[in-house]
Amino acid sequence: MNRTYTEVKAALGNTVSLCIVTKHRTPAQILSYYDAGERVFGENRITELKEKYDLLPKDIEWHFIGHLQKNKVRDTVRRVSCIQSLDSLALAECIEKECAKHQKTMRVFAEFHMADEDENKTGLSPADAFAFFDECRKYEHLDLCGIMVMGPHTDDESRVREVFDKAHTLFTELQKRYGSETITTLSMGMSGDYKIALSCGSTMVRLGSCLFTE
Ligand SMILES: *Cc1c(COP(=O)(O)O)cnc(C)c1O
Repeated sequence: MNRTYTEVKAALGNTVSLCIVTKHRTPAQILSYYDAGERVFGENRITELKEKYDLLPKDIEWHFIGHLQKNKVRDTVRRVSCIQSLDSLALAECIEKECAKHQKTMRVFAEFHMADEDENKTGLSPADAFAFFDECRKYEHLDLCGIMVMGPHTDDESRVREVFDKAHTLFTELQKRYGSETITTLSMGMSGDYKIALSCGSTMVRLGSCLFTE
């Protein structure tokens, strides 16, 4: 644990949740946050997730936050409580089928790319949001309850704010259409930009490096 953690907790208050991103971190590092009371941890690779899942306490709520390939859905669904990176209908159908087998309901967030200029844009286009949500809501074993957005890779704070404002607008539109009790989470903000994300209405930040380095 480090000093940033105290600052982060104060900034989040009771309304914004924290997903601690544990990629490349050791079980001991993760346990220090577990012992501090944290339960939500995020991984973006299934191989790393599997190793850590086996070693760490079973009441951890793992969130999958990386690009998910269909052939990895089986291994993922068994271990996580939320998939933040749903980016296609084909993937939704695959998760639905796997969850149906286990009679499990999976929380999922749809991942959107808001920044047109980013080269490696993964995620859905905001223009397709309603159609995507309408389609996904037919899947009985998916609880599509939020969206996940990455900030643009730039030091230009006003550009980051522009992207996060757009994401918040999309979040609000989805809440209007489907109900704010159904659409609960706007997952937005990483170590470099979480303060901006908070000021733009994020309800969950995903923090890695700032919590593991002094
Ligand atoms: C790595 C990662 C994070 C955390 O990034 P930091 O800059 O280390 O805070 C958040 N979200 C996703 C999707 C990631 O892959």
